[in-house]
Amino acid sequence: MTATARTVLVSSIILSLALPAAAKTPVTTGTGGAVATISEPASRAAMTILNQGGNAVDAAVAAAATLGVTDPFSCGIGGGGFMVIYLAKDKRVITIDHRETAPASVTPGVFLQNGKEMDFDQVVASGRSVGVPGTVRGWHEALDRYGSMSFRQVLAPAIDVASKGFKVNDNFSRLVRENETKFAQFPATAALYLKNGKAIAAGTTLRNRDLAKAYRALAAGGVKVFYTGPMARALVDAVNRNGGAITLADLSNYEARLRQPVHSTYRGYDLYGMPLPSSGGIAVAQALNILEGYDLKSMPRARAEHLYLEASRLAFADRNAYLADPEYVEAPVAGLLSKEYAARRRELINPSQASTHALAGDPYPFQNDVSVPLRPSANKLIAEGAHTTHLTVSDQDGNIVSYTYTIESWGGSGIVVPGYGFLLNNEMTDFDFSGPAPNVPEAGKRPRSSMAPTLAFKNGKPAFSIGSPGGATIITTVLQTIFNYVDLGMSMPDALNAPRLSERNGMVTDVEPGFPDSAQARALEKTGQRWSKTPEEIGAANALVFHPDGTVSAVSEARRHGIGSAMVQKSAH
Ligand code: GLU
Repeated sequence: MTATARTVLVSSIILSLALPAAAKTPVTTGTGGAVATISEPASRAAMTILNQGGNAVDAAVAAAATLGVTDPFSCGIGGGGFMVIYLAKDKRVITIDHRETAPASVTPGVFLQNGKEMDFDQVVASGRSVGVPGTVRGWHEALDRYGSMSFRQVLAPAIDVASKGFKVNDNFSRLVRENETKFAQFPATAALYLKNGKAIAAGTTLRNRDLAKAYRALAAGGVKVFYTGPMARALVDAVNRNGGAITLADLSNYEARLRQPVHSTYRGYDLYGMPLPSSGGIAVAQALNILEGYDLKSMPRARAEHLYLEASRLAFADRNAYLADPEYVEAPVAGLLSKEYAARRRELINPSQASTHALAGDPYPFQNDVSVPLRPSANKLIAEGAHTTHLTVSDQDGNIVSYTYTIESWGGSGIVVPGYGFLLNNEMTDFDFSGPAPNVPEAGKRPRSSMAPTLAFKNGKPAFSIGSPGGATIITTVLQTIFNYVDLGMSMPDALNAPRLSERNGMVTDVEPGFPDSAQARALEKTGQRWSKTPEEIGAANALVFHPDGTVSAVSEARRHGIGSAMVQKSAH
């Protein structure tokens, strides 16, 4: 066993000793396929499919469908996502963009009333926030092109959980409680998740027979069942009854996109991430390019973390100014990803003093693009949710899936489609409500995302996969975990469990409860770094680490989001 594998195993033993006798194990090492998700039934679903001979893509869809049952406030068939797949035989990385799309009725002024931005929360809890869902089309493309099983086979575990039920945990009940007002507005939602107007209690066994019915219909009829026919009509009615304007044509026209991954390098690793319309892959790569110019390993931790925060701030300034749906906006991606541009941005960092607000840079000279550049000036932050799910699966043949999918806010729009048991997204609120910004709402456009499912390779071999939920904090969680692992030399469990610091070019850095009183915070404050006054849990990451001896570690959260669930086909213990 290699030193790295041993470190991971030791960490895993420490973690399991430190935790109460939880059914969920956040770290496991072994051989064969592996899975890490935030839900035990979802990880079990992936294992069932792997044990039946399915590949990583089959297992990822099985896990995702089960998360749609057990984590319905983060994800589901009413939303969309981004899947990064490594095909071992071809040595190829491909991505499937199945992001929600603006209905044809959407105009740049859709979130304005008398020239003013509408109230954000009111827009969220309405049909206006709902984008055309992409999840089912994405699953179909994944299975059809790269899987080996049918919808019928991979949906079976999820149907089982939805119809037999699962035990609601504290986290689930708390999320309902926090959304009582939103959910109470929609009868089908209230019927499913509230009892006498109050959140269903932890410990309750929750069955979602309507969702089981919806999944059975997909299992029998395939992708078209979602985008045409009675389920599509029920979805359109639910949206339009609540102030939206979506049509059956919007649904039947929906397409997933296969996109070239964002490729970048960092200290000997080849990284593959999600391209636009997610800003995730580009922003992570850009910040790492900036960090690569420093000898972080030789520095005291606080100095290296200061540089991590400053690099993130600069990457966010550019993300906010330039990135949006590439079919609508000419984003200077090559310039943003160039090492030379990163060097120019690095010059702006003061190694001993935090900056306050970074301006967007000028990546166009680094584009090798002879067209006349449009130079957007917008540089503002928009409100974004923090609620999604990430899962990652590998199989015994070496295929890997890194998959983040969402319905945007906790509970999305709050609208359950009557008779079908799934929540509709509020992804349209990921657009900027007003311009001039690249990310304004337009018909058929996909709102800019931050999702950053990532695969890393070393010397042509898989090294690790990583991803997280958390809205725009996804970018910093993925970036910080890579920085912790590669630069600070932490094991992956330690890298994941370390306190998260999310600097997104705001006035202060978002941090987690307990952090502002720590010695780590004190050390960073010496350079002028400042923390949010309302610390909150950030992200719920999942990772796989591929060790040189052929073993794999599945790594999930040891504390956050009710503890994650890591499994391998053949345990090393
Ligand atoms: N809508 C967010 C995005 O696409 C994800 C939602 C979340 O993680 O909260 O970046």
